[in-house]
Amino acid sequence: MKSFECSSCGECCKHVEDVLKNLPETAYLIGIENTKFPFTHKNGICEKLSIDNRCTVYDSRPFICNAEKMATLIAEKFNLNKESIYMQFKEICNQLQHKSKSKNK
Ligand code: SF4
Ligand code: SF4
Repeated sequence: MKSFECSSCGECCKHVEDVLKNLPETAYLIGIENTKFPFTHKNGICEKLSIDNRCTVYDSRPFICNAEKMATLIAEKFNLNKESIYMQFKEICNQLQHKSKSKNK
C-alpha cells in the first residue's frame, strides 16, 4: 500500500484555516477531538513552523497534521479505500500550492 506523498512544501502549515475549512466531511466525522488544532496560527501560519519551513513538533504533531494517520482512521471507520482519501487530501494540497503561487506572482 502506497503512503501519502507529501512534497514538504509547507503550505498546509501556512494556511491552517484553509486546511480546516476544506477537509473532507469524512475527516470531521471521525470525531472533533481528532480534528482539533491546538496551536495559534497568525495569518494562517502555524506557530510551530520554523523559518526553514519545518515543523518543530513533528514527532508529536497533532493528529490533524498527520495525513497518514488520518487517512488510516477514516478508511477504517468508513470502509473506504485509503488512496481515495489521499486523493482528497492532495486536492487540498494543490489548492494551497496554487493559492500561494498566485499570491507570489
Ligand atoms: S500542503 Fe500537502 S504536500 Fe505540502 S506540506 Fe502540506 S501535506 Fe505536504
Ligand atoms: S503543528 Fe507542525 S505540521 Fe502541524 S501545522 Fe504546525 S507546523 Fe505544520
